[in-house]
Amino acid sequence: IQAWQEQVPTLAYDRVMAVQAAERLVLARRIRRALDREEFELHYQPIQRLSDGRIVALEALLRWRQGEGYVPPDLFIPLAEASGLIVPIGRWTLEQAARAHVRLAERGLGDVAIAVNVSPVQLLADDVLEAIGELRERYSVPRGALHVELTESVLMRRPQVARMRMLELRVAGVRISIDDFGTGFSSMAYLRNLPLDYVKIDRAFVREVHIDQRNASICRALISLARGLDLGTIAEGVESAEELAWLRANGCDQAQGYHIGRPVPLEQVIGLIQAAA
Ligand code: C2E
Ligand code: MG
Ligand code: MG
Ligand code: MG
Repeated sequence: IQAWQEQVPTLAYDRVMAVQAAERLVLARRIRRALDREEFELHYQPIQRLSDGRIVALEALLRWRQGEGYVPPDLFIPLAEASGLIVPIGRWTLEQAARAHVRLAERGLGDVAIAVNVSPVQLLADDVLEAIGELRERYSVPRGALHVELTESVLMRRPQVARMRMLELRVAGVRISIDDFGTGFSSMAYLRNLPLDYVKIDRAFVREVHIDQRNASICRALISLARGLDLGTIAEGVESAEELAWLRANGCDQAQGYHIGRPVPLEQVIGLIQAAA
């Protein structure tokens, strides 16, 4: 385990998945225990509306506390998915998000939405709709206050089931974003056929968009495509004022990234929103 832990920071996804079955079992057990011991936290990253600079949403990002630091989600979510533990983790995350919205509302920030990443495994295996319905009732979460971010992989694996789940979620007042658009096996057909609200432009295309002509072309095309289909655009990974200015000038609707704010605990992000208002 020790050796595995030391390797982890440098392991890529497929190498993580190639770790011996026995070690994966050990890690799965540690993830299970982390849930019981409340070692998970959510951090929240602000999403800014470019027309007026207001923070209109927060993306909830999972963190696993380990001593002084955090294990990044890219390292344990694949294993949580493979072991099925993503289902209880995902439920926990949704509940935390609902509670976070209550805290926002108490501070007069009830119109700030919370966006939650939902794993394809969770969307297909768990009754996400029922879970969200219960949470909305228990915490009086208004329509539109909860957003779900989905990656393309779910749409590829079980397109019909995914589409049905998405339709049900939308009827229940949940907004849906397609995450990291353009990095996987993105298809225009998804944008045309699926019940979506937002396209999140992956940060690979946002990098240096004000000087990188290729990225500029891709971003312009995605923004125009989304607009034509009546979808909002959210640029990810904005790290400079120049990138932000370019996105605003080119009609992107919303943005998030270190330049606007890093993912931080809820209290901290509330302070940031209030300072900006
Ligand atoms: P994502 O949903 O695309 O989240 C955005 C990632 O980009 C986050 O990494 C965030 O911290 C990072 N980021 C934000 N702004 C910047 C920036 O300006 N520059 C750079 N270089 N990076 C930026 P994080 O938190 O490590 O999350 C990685 C991925 O893990 C997420 O990608 C998402 O796919 C997954 N994930 C995170 N939390 C959850 C969760 O609760 N459930 C599930 N199923 N997946 C999650
Ligand atoms: Mg996301
Ligand atoms: Mg993303
Ligand atoms: Mg991502």
